[in-house]
Amino acid sequence: MLKWFKNFFIDPILNFVYPPVCFLCNQLIEDAKFCVCIKCWSEFKKVEKSSIEFQLLMERFKNDGIIDKFCSLYIFEKDGKFQETIHLLKYKKIKSIGITFGRELGVKIENELGKFDILTAVPLHKLKYRERGYNQVDYICRGISEVSGIEFKNDLIIRTRYTKTQTELTFQERKENVKDAFSVNRKYYELLKDAVVVVVDDVITTGSTVASAGQVLKEAGCKTIYAASVGLASI
Ligand SMILES: [Zn+2]
Repeated sequence: MLKWFKNFFIDPILNFVYPPVCFLCNQLIEDAKFCVCIKCWSEFKKVEKSSIEFQLLMERFKNDGIIDKFCSLYIFEKDGKFQETIHLLKYKKIKSIGITFGRELGVKIENELGKFDILTAVPLHKLKYRERGYNQVDYICRGISEVSGIEFKNDLIIRTRYTKTQTELTFQERKENVKDAFSVNRKYYELLKDAVVVVVDDVITTGSTVASAGQVLKEAGCKTIYAASVGLASI
């Protein structure tokens, strides 16, 4: 269907018959492109440098010596509105949520981490990607790319091992689970020498996954690794 026809005729009729409402609170929203209203979005708990979750993770990163700096947008609380929004992005595949998060995260990266050369994401294993057909982190990175002007390289890191889901695992088990799970795409070797790289994930919990991905980047010659995520969870 022609895009203008949809924009000018179909959408207004649909909006009249089914007015757009917030997925979280059911209040009407002005712009049908957004699925979460401003009020709900403003209720997400922000990650501050003084947040205990942030400080714990920074300490872990410091001990490992892989991730040099880290920033995150919101605290991931079980059954909270933020978790619901992440689920809308991940399982309902509402891409605009990822891009909006990405734009916010891009600003925070610029303010708290500083300049960088390469933008990449924690990848899914290709079997998992095929099964799901979608990696929500790609859309977060698109938003970051818009803000920073740095191109998103979605094939920089390769997941070489199909790892089990981490949700039920302890800290130590998570570390084992993602050990040697990644490699670096050879075609980028030249580019990585002395580079500052940002590795993005949707939610970071123990930091084991992003550190494991960061390790192969450092082995490939990167100078500095930043980690950034939309959500910060604790176990
Ligand atoms: Zn709402």
